[in-house]
Amino acid sequence: MYKFLPILIFNYFIYANEIAFVGIDEQKDGEINISLILDKVAYINSYSQEDPSRLVLEINDAYSKESISEIYNYPIKQIKSNKDDDHTKIVIDLYDDVFWRKPIQEVTDSGILLNLKLNKDKSLEQNARDIIVAIDAGHGGKYPGAVGPNNILEKDVTLLIAKELERTLRDTKGYQPVMIRDGDQTVSLNDRFQIARRYGADIFISIHADGFKLSSVKGASVFIWSEEASSTIARNLSDTKRERILAEIKNLKPTDFDEDYAREQYPEVYEKKIEQSKILGSKILDQLKKDPYTKIHKKNVEYADFRVLKSIDIPSVLVESGFITNPEDAARLKGKPGRRMIARSIFLGINNYFIENPVSGTLINENTDHLKYTIQKGDVLSEIAIRFGVTVESIDEKNKLNNKPIYPGQTLKIYF
Ligand SMILES: [Zn+2]
Repeated sequence: MYKFLPILIFNYFIYANEIAFVGIDEQKDGEINISLILDKVAYINSYSQEDPSRLVLEINDAYSKESISEIYNYPIKQIKSNKDDDHTKIVIDLYDDVFWRKPIQEVTDSGILLNLKLNKDKSLEQNARDIIVAIDAGHGGKYPGAVGPNNILEKDVTLLIAKELERTLRDTKGYQPVMIRDGDQTVSLNDRFQIARRYGADIFISIHADGFKLSSVKGASVFIWSEEASSTIARNLSDTKRERILAEIKNLKPTDFDEDYAREQYPEVYEKKIEQSKILGSKILDQLKKDPYTKIHKKNVEYADFRVLKSIDIPSVLVESGFITNPEDAARLKGKPGRRMIARSIFLGINNYFIENPVSGTLINENTDHLKYTIQKGDVLSEIAIRFGVTVESIDEKNKLNNKPIYPGQTLKIYF
């Protein structure tokens, strides 16, 4: 402990993060937005409580110069700040239960604007929120990733799988997807996990389809990051590569969150994250093993130095959908059915993970035996069935459709 002391003191001055209250505004549709401003992106724990009903934000490594105390109208009673050892707690006392969204930290010219949105919702029996899933389509923009036969590019395949997964999550009650990139943009590795943190992601899924020098190598695998794997690899790196990586780490913007420093500061948080990543990874791998299209390359979750996964607290998994350099894998990932199977395995793995490792106060906990899917324009039952790995007959029976046509906006219950 002693040997870290000078570093901690040194860092305290550099990393001090000030919080100030900005305001509350209410939209015409009844959405209420609470805004705070920070100097830099923070590691925040946010959760709801019942009896008394409240929302709590624990903003780590941050302080408010003046304590916050604001009275507001229904459903908010008051907002106040409490200073704890290493964090500031923002407590939002409520008259009633609300639907709320995890705070988003937005980079602006005057600092990091933190927005917490909530809605009155009489139908709720307790405060509730969605699970936020960050979807990271590998590569993009000037980085095509691996190149397969007929010039099929990894960056295009990863984006299509990501969009497929986004669609299922978006239309399933209780989930909210966040795309790290939604087009052909160049996004740095640092920015990828910085964005996930700013959106309050509960989990982070990175999608790839890399290549190998031997085109015979094929199949899907699931990876998580480990500091051990990373340092072993770092020791074996050439000097130029090590320098390049160090340069990228130094690229951290003043408003960015420093994951490497935080890992030393919160070792128990990081350990829990690794443990949860392993569980999430095996849930996804279990589904990939059931997928009729996909062969498995590694039958266990592997550790690797994928730095995009290094957030200290967000369970993070990298799915290699296959080897784009293998003709069979390339053909599978080129077609929609093959890509949809990867997205479906990831989705079902995520859902199984949250059913077995519930996050309190999220909508998914309410009904663990089924999901609610909202039908979109153009949806057909057979595709919905494939998307969730169930049969058309079971959807028809459970929803008492009796072969009647489905319509956009209709909610279907999907039982597993
Ligand atoms: Zn890749």
